[in-house]
Amino acid sequence: MRLAEIGEFNLIERIRRVFETAGSEVLGIGDDCAVWDLDRDHVQLATTDLLIENRHFLRQAISPRDLGHKSLAVNLSDIAAMGGTPTAAFLSIGLPGDLEVAWWDDCFDGIRALSESSGCPLLGGDTTRSHGDIVINFAVLGTAEKSRVKYRSGAKPGDVIAVTGCLGDSAGGLRLLLDNDPLEMDDHRALVNVHHRPVPHLKEGRWLAGHPEVHAMLDVSDGVDSDIRHVMKASSVGAEIDLDRLPVSDRLGRTAAQMGWAVEELAVAGGEDYVLLCTVAASAFDRLANGFQEEFNRPLYAIGTMTGSHQRSYRRGGNVTALKSAGFDHFGAP
Ligand code: ADP
Ligand code: MG
Repeated sequence: MRLAEIGEFNLIERIRRVFETAGSEVLGIGDDCAVWDLDRDHVQLATTDLLIENRHFLRQAISPRDLGHKSLAVNLSDIAAMGGTPTAAFLSIGLPGDLEVAWWDDCFDGIRALSESSGCPLLGGDTTRSHGDIVINFAVLGTAEKSRVKYRSGAKPGDVIAVTGCLGDSAGGLRLLLDNDPLEMDDHRALVNVHHRPVPHLKEGRWLAGHPEVHAMLDVSDGVDSDIRHVMKASSVGAEIDLDRLPVSDRLGRTAAQMGWAVEELAVAGGEDYVLLCTVAASAFDRLANGFQEEFNRPLYAIGTMTGSHQRSYRRGGNVTALKSAGFDHFGAP
Protein backbone atom coordinates (compact mmCIF):
# COMPACT_ATOMS: atom_id res chain seq x y z
CA MET A 1 0.00 0.00 0.00
CA ARG A 2 1.34 3.45 -0.96
CA LEU A 3 0.63 6.85 0.60
CA ALA A 4 -1.21 8.00 -2.52
CA GLU A 5 -3.70 5.18 -2.00
CA ILE A 6 -4.60 6.08 1.60
CA GLY A 7 -4.47 9.88 1.12
CA GLU A 8 -3.39 12.80 3.32
CA PHE A 9 -6.27 12.61 5.79
CA ASN A 10 -5.87 8.88 6.45
CA LEU A 11 -2.15 9.39 6.97
CA ILE A 12 -2.84 12.10 9.57
CA GLU A 13 -5.41 9.77 11.17
CA ARG A 14 -2.77 7.04 11.52
CA ILE A 15 -0.45 9.54 13.21
CA ARG A 16 -3.21 10.87 15.45
CA ARG A 17 -4.21 7.43 16.74
CA VAL A 18 -0.76 6.95 18.28
CA PHE A 19 -0.84 10.32 20.08
CA GLU A 20 -4.49 10.40 21.11
CA THR A 21 -5.08 13.31 23.53
CA ALA A 22 -8.78 12.69 24.21
CA GLY A 23 -9.61 13.16 27.89
CA SER A 24 -6.47 15.19 28.61
CA GLU A 25 -6.17 18.97 29.07
CA VAL A 26 -4.46 19.26 25.68
CA LEU A 27 -6.19 19.41 22.30
CA GLY A 28 -3.70 17.85 19.91
CA ILE A 29 -4.08 16.77 16.30
CA GLY A 30 -7.33 17.61 14.54
CA ASP A 31 -8.02 21.34 14.77
CA ASP A 32 -6.36 24.35 13.14
CA CYS A 33 -4.05 24.69 16.16
CA ALA A 34 -3.06 22.59 19.14
CA VAL A 35 -4.49 24.15 22.32
CA TRP A 36 -3.43 23.86 25.96
CA ASP A 37 -3.85 25.84 29.16
CA LEU A 38 -1.53 28.80 29.68
CA ASP A 39 -3.08 30.22 32.85
CA ARG A 40 -6.53 30.37 34.40
CA ASP A 41 -8.05 32.52 31.65
CA HIS A 42 -5.84 31.92 28.60
CA VAL A 43 -4.83 29.08 26.29
CA GLN A 44 -1.67 28.60 24.26
CA LEU A 45 -2.11 27.98 20.51
CA ALA A 46 0.47 26.31 18.25
CA THR A 47 0.45 25.56 14.53
CA THR A 48 2.92 24.73 11.76
CA ASP A 49 2.75 24.67 7.96
CA LEU A 50 5.23 23.62 5.30
CA LEU A 51 5.70 25.08 1.80
CA ILE A 52 7.69 23.07 -0.75
CA GLU A 53 8.84 24.37 -4.12
CA ASN A 54 6.93 22.93 -7.11
CA ARG A 55 4.28 21.59 -4.75
CA HIS A 56 2.98 24.77 -3.10
CA PHE A 57 4.66 27.38 -5.27
CA LEU A 58 6.55 27.84 -8.53
CA ARG A 59 9.77 29.84 -8.06
CA GLN A 60 9.43 31.55 -11.44
CA ALA A 61 5.76 32.48 -10.81
CA ILE A 62 5.87 34.01 -7.30
CA SER A 63 8.08 36.90 -6.22
CA PRO A 64 10.34 36.11 -3.26
CA ARG A 65 8.63 38.87 -1.25
CA ASP A 66 5.19 37.33 -1.83
CA LEU A 67 6.49 33.86 -0.99
CA GLY A 68 7.84 35.16 2.32
CA HIS A 69 4.49 36.81 3.04
CA LYS A 70 2.49 33.69 2.14
CA SER A 71 4.62 31.28 4.17
CA LEU A 72 3.87 33.22 7.37
CA ALA A 73 0.29 34.20 6.39
CA VAL A 74 -0.94 30.59 6.12
CA ASN A 75 0.16 29.96 9.71
CA LEU A 76 -1.39 33.18 11.03
CA SER A 77 -4.62 32.06 9.36
CA ASP A 78 -4.69 28.97 11.61
CA ILE A 79 -4.27 31.22 14.68
CA ALA A 80 -7.14 33.40 13.33
CA ALA A 81 -9.29 30.28 12.96
CA MET A 82 -9.17 29.71 16.74
CA GLY A 83 -9.93 33.38 17.47
CA GLY A 84 -6.38 33.90 18.71
CA THR A 85 -3.57 36.47 18.69
CA PRO A 86 -0.17 35.40 17.31
CA THR A 87 2.75 35.86 19.70
CA ALA A 88 5.86 34.21 18.18
CA ALA A 89 7.11 32.61 14.97
CA PHE A 90 9.88 30.07 14.29
CA LEU A 91 11.23 29.70 10.75
CA SER A 92 12.93 26.59 9.35
CA ILE A 93 14.35 26.77 5.83
CA GLY A 94 16.06 24.45 3.37
CA LEU A 95 17.75 26.44 0.58
CA PRO A 96 19.96 25.41 -2.36
CA GLY A 97 23.54 26.74 -2.29
CA ASP A 98 23.22 28.49 -5.65
CA LEU A 99 20.29 30.67 -4.52
CA GLU A 100 20.98 34.40 -4.92
CA VAL A 101 21.36 36.19 -1.57
CA ALA A 102 19.20 39.00 -3.03
CA TRP A 103 16.38 36.46 -3.55
CA TRP A 104 16.51 35.46 0.09
CA ASP A 105 16.69 39.09 1.27
CA ASP A 106 13.47 39.88 -0.65
CA CYS A 107 11.75 36.77 0.69
CA PHE A 108 12.74 37.70 4.22
CA ASP A 109 11.48 41.24 3.67
CA GLY A 110 8.02 39.78 2.94
CA ILE A 111 8.26 37.82 6.19
CA ARG A 112 9.45 40.88 8.14
CA ALA A 113 6.62 43.10 6.87
CA LEU A 114 3.87 40.64 7.84
CA SER A 115 5.58 39.81 11.12
CA GLU A 116 5.53 43.52 11.98
CA SER A 117 1.97 44.22 10.87
CA SER A 118 0.61 41.17 12.71
CA GLY A 119 2.71 41.70 15.87
CA CYS A 120 4.28 38.26 15.58
CA PRO A 121 8.07 38.43 16.04
CA LEU A 122 10.47 35.77 14.72
CA LEU A 123 12.12 34.09 17.71
CA GLY A 124 14.07 31.23 16.15
CA GLY A 125 14.20 28.45 13.59
CA ASP A 126 16.60 26.21 11.71
CA THR A 127 18.61 26.57 8.48
CA THR A 128 19.95 23.88 6.19
CA ARG A 129 21.19 23.44 2.60
CA SER A 130 18.79 21.60 0.28
CA HIS A 131 19.59 19.60 -2.87
CA GLY A 132 17.72 22.03 -5.10
CA ASP A 133 14.22 22.86 -3.98
CA ILE A 134 13.30 25.65 -1.57
CA VAL A 135 11.52 24.44 1.58
CA ILE A 136 9.99 26.89 4.06
CA ASN A 137 8.35 25.85 7.32
CA PHE A 138 6.90 28.15 9.96
CA ALA A 139 5.71 27.24 13.43
CA VAL A 140 3.62 29.96 15.05
CA LEU A 141 2.47 30.31 18.65
CA GLY A 142 -0.47 32.37 19.82
CA THR A 143 -2.81 32.94 22.72
CA ALA A 144 -6.56 33.19 23.13
CA GLU A 145 -9.00 33.74 25.95
CA LYS A 146 -10.04 30.32 27.20
CA SER A 147 -13.74 31.20 27.25
CA ARG A 148 -13.64 32.50 23.66
CA VAL A 149 -11.50 30.05 21.68
CA LYS A 150 -13.43 28.38 18.82
CA TYR A 151 -13.03 24.76 17.75
CA ARG A 152 -14.15 22.74 14.75
CA SER A 153 -16.21 20.60 17.10
CA GLY A 154 -18.85 23.12 18.26
CA ALA A 155 -21.23 23.09 15.29
CA LYS A 156 -24.89 22.21 15.89
CA PRO A 157 -27.65 21.11 13.49
CA GLY A 158 -29.52 24.20 12.31
CA ASP A 159 -26.47 26.50 12.52
CA VAL A 160 -25.94 28.91 9.63
CA ILE A 161 -22.64 28.26 7.80
CA ALA A 162 -20.91 31.56 6.99
CA VAL A 163 -17.63 32.75 5.47
CA THR A 164 -15.74 36.01 6.05
CA GLY A 165 -14.82 36.71 2.41
CA CYS A 166 -15.08 35.71 -1.23
CA LEU A 167 -14.29 32.18 -2.36
CA GLY A 168 -12.37 30.97 -5.41
CA ASP A 169 -10.15 33.97 -6.17
CA SER A 170 -7.02 32.10 -5.14
CA ALA A 171 -7.93 29.01 -7.18
CA GLY A 172 -8.66 31.28 -10.15
CA GLY A 173 -5.25 32.91 -9.77
CA LEU A 174 -3.56 29.52 -9.58
CA ARG A 175 -5.38 28.37 -12.70
CA LEU A 176 -4.15 31.44 -14.60
CA LEU A 177 -0.57 30.69 -13.51
CA LEU A 178 -0.81 27.03 -14.54
CA ASP A 179 -2.31 28.06 -17.91
CA ASN A 180 0.63 30.46 -18.47
CA ASP A 181 -1.75 33.41 -18.76
CA PRO A 182 0.19 36.54 -19.79
CA LEU A 183 -1.48 38.44 -16.88
CA GLU A 184 -2.13 41.48 -19.02
CA MET A 185 -5.60 42.13 -17.53
CA ASP A 186 -6.10 43.85 -14.16
CA ASP A 187 -8.60 41.16 -13.09
CA HIS A 188 -6.10 38.41 -13.80
CA ARG A 189 -3.31 40.12 -11.89
CA ALA A 190 -5.66 40.73 -8.96
CA LEU A 191 -6.60 37.02 -8.78
CA VAL A 192 -2.94 35.96 -8.85
CA ASN A 193 -2.27 38.52 -6.14
CA VAL A 194 -4.90 36.87 -3.91
CA HIS A 195 -3.21 33.51 -4.54
CA HIS A 196 0.23 34.88 -3.67
CA ARG A 197 -0.66 37.30 -0.84
CA PRO A 198 -3.45 35.76 1.27
CA VAL A 199 -4.59 38.01 4.11
CA PRO A 200 -5.04 36.14 7.41
CA HIS A 201 -8.37 37.19 8.95
CA LEU A 202 -6.95 37.75 12.45
CA LYS A 203 -9.23 40.67 13.41
CA GLU A 204 -12.27 38.90 12.00
CA GLY A 205 -11.35 35.72 13.91
CA ARG A 206 -11.01 37.56 17.22
CA TRP A 207 -14.25 39.46 16.65
CA LEU A 208 -16.18 36.28 15.84
CA ALA A 209 -14.58 34.52 18.83
CA GLY A 210 -16.03 37.26 21.05
CA HIS A 211 -19.56 36.08 20.17
CA PRO A 212 -20.85 32.94 21.94
CA GLU A 213 -23.44 32.40 19.17
CA VAL A 214 -20.51 31.46 16.89
CA HIS A 215 -20.26 27.73 17.61
CA ALA A 216 -17.42 26.47 15.39
CA MET A 217 -14.71 28.00 13.23
CA LEU A 218 -11.86 27.03 10.89
CA ASP A 219 -9.97 28.61 8.03
CA VAL A 220 -10.63 27.65 4.41
CA SER A 221 -7.27 26.26 3.28
CA ASP A 222 -8.25 23.21 1.21
CA GLY A 223 -11.61 24.53 -0.08
CA VAL A 224 -15.08 24.67 1.49
CA ASP A 225 -15.98 21.24 0.11
CA SER A 226 -13.07 19.65 1.94
CA ASP A 227 -12.89 21.88 5.02
CA ILE A 228 -16.61 21.61 5.87
CA ARG A 229 -16.00 17.86 6.27
CA HIS A 230 -13.58 18.61 9.12
CA VAL A 231 -16.37 20.48 10.92
CA MET A 232 -18.85 17.68 10.17
CA LYS A 233 -16.50 15.02 11.53
CA ALA A 234 -15.46 16.98 14.62
CA SER A 235 -19.05 18.01 15.44
CA SER A 236 -20.88 14.82 14.29
CA VAL A 237 -23.23 16.81 12.08
CA GLY A 238 -24.00 17.20 8.38
CA ALA A 239 -23.96 20.21 6.08
CA GLU A 240 -26.00 21.58 3.23
CA ILE A 241 -24.27 24.19 1.05
CA ASP A 242 -26.29 26.52 -1.16
CA LEU A 243 -24.31 26.94 -4.40
CA ASP A 244 -26.37 30.02 -5.33
CA ARG A 245 -25.09 31.85 -2.23
CA LEU A 246 -21.34 31.31 -2.56
CA PRO A 247 -19.71 34.76 -2.50
CA VAL A 248 -17.78 35.23 -5.75
CA SER A 249 -15.86 38.45 -6.47
CA ASP A 250 -16.72 40.46 -9.57
CA ARG A 251 -13.20 39.94 -10.93
CA LEU A 252 -13.52 36.14 -10.60
CA GLY A 253 -17.03 36.23 -12.12
CA ARG A 254 -15.77 38.21 -15.13
CA THR A 255 -12.66 36.06 -15.55
CA ALA A 256 -14.59 32.79 -15.28
CA ALA A 257 -17.08 33.97 -17.91
CA GLN A 258 -14.23 35.00 -20.19
CA MET A 259 -12.23 31.77 -19.73
CA GLY A 260 -15.20 29.36 -19.66
CA TRP A 261 -14.52 28.19 -16.06
CA ALA A 262 -17.20 26.66 -13.82
CA VAL A 263 -17.07 29.44 -11.23
CA GLU A 264 -18.98 27.65 -8.48
CA GLU A 265 -16.57 24.71 -8.60
CA LEU A 266 -13.65 27.08 -8.10
CA ALA A 267 -15.55 28.73 -5.24
CA VAL A 268 -16.47 25.53 -3.42
CA ALA A 269 -13.55 23.21 -4.22
CA GLY A 270 -10.66 25.61 -4.84
CA GLY A 271 -8.33 25.99 -1.86
CA GLU A 272 -6.12 28.66 -0.32
CA ASP A 273 -8.73 31.38 0.13
CA TYR A 274 -7.78 31.66 3.82
CA VAL A 275 -11.09 33.24 4.74
CA LEU A 276 -12.71 31.94 7.94
CA LEU A 277 -15.71 29.62 7.93
CA CYS A 278 -17.91 29.66 11.02
CA THR A 279 -21.21 28.15 12.10
CA VAL A 280 -23.64 30.43 13.90
CA ALA A 281 -26.84 29.85 15.90
CA ALA A 282 -29.59 30.56 13.31
CA SER A 283 -31.58 32.86 15.61
CA ALA A 284 -28.52 35.10 16.11
CA PHE A 285 -27.23 35.19 12.56
CA ASP A 286 -28.85 38.39 11.26
CA ARG A 287 -27.72 40.39 14.28
CA LEU A 288 -24.19 38.98 14.04
CA ALA A 289 -23.99 39.67 10.29
CA ASN A 290 -25.11 43.28 10.87
CA GLY A 291 -22.45 43.70 13.52
CA PHE A 292 -19.82 42.19 11.22
CA GLN A 293 -20.82 44.56 8.41
CA GLU A 294 -20.52 47.51 10.77
CA GLU A 295 -17.15 46.40 12.09
CA PHE A 296 -15.47 45.36 8.84
CA ASN A 297 -17.45 47.20 6.18
CA ARG A 298 -18.21 44.01 4.26
CA PRO A 299 -20.68 41.16 4.62
CA LEU A 300 -20.50 37.94 6.60
CA TYR A 301 -21.79 35.62 3.87
CA ALA A 302 -24.27 32.83 4.74
CA ILE A 303 -23.60 29.85 2.45
CA GLY A 304 -25.60 27.01 4.00
CA THR A 305 -26.88 25.20 7.07
CA MET A 306 -25.52 22.47 9.36
CA THR A 307 -27.85 19.46 9.50
CA GLY A 308 -28.32 16.38 11.67
CA SER A 309 -27.78 14.00 8.76
CA HIS A 310 -23.98 13.38 8.78
CA GLN A 311 -24.08 13.94 5.00
CA ARG A 312 -22.74 16.82 2.94
CA SER A 313 -25.08 17.98 0.20
CA TYR A 314 -25.33 20.86 -2.25
CA ARG A 315 -28.37 22.81 -3.36
CA ARG A 316 -28.94 24.89 -6.45
CA GLY A 317 -32.25 26.68 -7.02
CA GLY A 318 -33.64 24.83 -3.99
CA ASN A 319 -32.86 21.37 -5.43
CA VAL A 320 -30.22 18.91 -4.28
CA THR A 321 -27.39 18.67 -6.79
CA ALA A 322 -24.11 16.75 -7.13
CA LEU A 323 -20.66 18.29 -7.35
CA LYS A 324 -17.81 16.59 -9.20
CA SER A 325 -14.57 17.86 -7.74
CA ALA A 326 -13.37 17.54 -4.15
CA GLY A 327 -10.98 19.65 -2.08
CA PHE A 328 -7.25 19.25 -2.07
CA ASP A 329 -5.57 16.10 -0.76
CA HIS A 330 -1.77 16.16 -0.79
CA PHE A 331 -1.48 12.48 -1.63
CA GLY A 332 -4.66 12.19 -3.72
CA ALA A 333 -4.80 11.84 -7.49
CA PRO A 334 -3.44 14.96 -9.27
P1 ADP B 1 -4.59 22.99 8.51
O1 ADP B 1 -5.02 22.93 7.07
O2 ADP B 1 -5.51 23.77 9.37
O3 ADP B 1 -3.15 23.41 8.68
P2 ADP B 1 -4.18 20.19 8.30
O4 ADP B 1 -5.30 19.62 7.48
O5 ADP B 1 -2.87 20.46 7.66
O6 ADP B 1 -4.70 21.51 9.04
O7 ADP B 1 -3.91 19.25 9.53
C1 ADP B 1 -5.00 18.75 10.29
C2 ADP B 1 -4.50 18.39 11.69
O8 ADP B 1 -3.52 17.35 11.61
C3 ADP B 1 -3.85 19.55 12.43
O9 ADP B 1 -4.28 19.49 13.78
C4 ADP B 1 -2.37 19.25 12.31
O10 ADP B 1 -1.64 19.73 13.42
C5 ADP B 1 -2.33 17.73 12.26
N1 ADP B 1 -1.20 17.19 11.47
C6 ADP B 1 -0.98 17.31 10.14
N2 ADP B 1 0.14 16.68 9.76
C7 ADP B 1 0.69 16.14 10.90
C8 ADP B 1 1.87 15.38 11.20
N3 ADP B 1 2.74 15.03 10.24
N4 ADP B 1 2.09 15.03 12.49
C9 ADP B 1 1.22 15.39 13.45
N5 ADP B 1 0.10 16.09 13.24
C10 ADP B 1 -0.18 16.47 11.99
MG1 MG C 1 -6.48 25.59 9.13
